[in-house]
Amino acid sequence: MQINQNRYQIQGVDVLAMAEEFGLPLYVYDADKIIEKIGTLQAAFQGVTLKIKYAAKALTNVSILKLMRSRGIDIEVVSVNEIRMALLAGFDSGQIMYTPSGVSFAEIQEALALGVRLNVDSLPLLEFMGQTYGSRKPVGIRINPHIAEGGNIKIQTGHADSKFGISMEQRSEIRAIVERYSIPVVGLHIHTGSDFKNADAFLKGADVLFELASDYPDLEFLDFGSGFKVAYREGDHSTDVVELGRKVTTAFRNFCRNYGREIELCFEPGKFLVSESGVLLVNVNVVKQNPNRTFVGVDSGLNHLIRPMMYDAYHEIVNVSNPAGEKQTYSVVGYICETDTLGWDRSLNEVRPGDVLALKNAGAYGFSMSSNYNSRVRPAEVLVYEGKPYLIRRRETFEDLVRNQIEVDFEEEISIKK
Ligand SMILES: *Cc1c(COP(=O)(O)O)cnc(C)c1O
Repeated sequence: MQINQNRYQIQGVDVLAMAEEFGLPLYVYDADKIIEKIGTLQAAFQGVTLKIKYAAKALTNVSILKLMRSRGIDIEVVSVNEIRMALLAGFDSGQIMYTPSGVSFAEIQEALALGVRLNVDSLPLLEFMGQTYGSRKPVGIRINPHIAEGGNIKIQTGHADSKFGISMEQRSEIRAIVERYSIPVVGLHIHTGSDFKNADAFLKGADVLFELASDYPDLEFLDFGSGFKVAYREGDHSTDVVELGRKVTTAFRNFCRNYGREIELCFEPGKFLVSESGVLLVNVNVVKQNPNRTFVGVDSGLNHLIRPMMYDAYHEIVNVSNPAGEKQTYSVVGYICETDTLGWDRSLNEVRPGDVLALKNAGAYGFSMSSNYNSRVRPAEVLVYEGKPYLIRRRETFEDLVRNQIEVDFEEEISIKK
């Protein structure tokens, strides 16, 4: 994305022209940005067998999944429907890593019948795997490394009080079950959360897996999950992927030497691959001058982008349609009947009703966490690929909202009884 002659463009396509063509509000994704991020990761991890698995929950549109597949990326999923989505996008079941948290054993069996690989998240599930499949199903094991790292507490997943994974302190319990049923353990997995400040958090996690790996001679992979931090505003810290690559590959090569064999090094980035690629375009409904503040009310809100309200996330906002307007301070709010703030006290080029604002870094956990709250429909999604915008999801309609609802006609019921 760049601003060219004051016009906000994505791969040379004018954002305002897309707003015109596809309507607002609108999610737009830049395929080049995704491809660039894939390249950055691949370049940073030279000299090891690297496998990148895209964490599909960040942005699950089937065309995005197809783009990932076309670039040699595997996929990480957390639900059986994400598995179906990945299959629909053309992934082989062997490329799909399923890492659910606390799902029913029935769903686990459904997933395994589809041929995917599984990371086991609890001792009862490990026991179930042994009882049901004996030594027939290879598994990965998700370890909770007791590392409290990452941004907002809501996105930390690797500390001792997190629900995720099997505690590293239960090492002997894991082994006992594995030995009882001769379960083939082919991988160890951690995912410690999001927004790590530096490479050290990854290295701490890696050390935990290196240590536990000595229990399992048949490993095919170690999976370090994700946690890559993305810069949401200018001056924001982001994970230095080059430094991370240098440190982790060195540690991993040492590990493989000691282990006696080269195995795969896996990462599961979601946010890192898609966050920057996405922008949410919204229309300004009203500019409202209150005694203390000027509010900009837009035709979107936490139903389309919940991260500001859920995680106190900062999304940069720009006035796309008045780029030369004089800067003023505004608070940009959504139309949902809740406290629904998208950006507080932002300096924006003069905002007028009918202007188009862009909320940046909206590719990850934007559309995928959207809802129909307030009976609002979800926006359309557009992917810009090789300089051309493709509609990859139609805007919902009122019919979509009522499709699965069943009306009970109470007056008729009463008259039948009479
Ligand atoms: C959500 C998730 C990821 C991706 O996390 P990001 O912060 O988006 O990179 C990776 N692995 C697992 C198991 C996840 O649940």
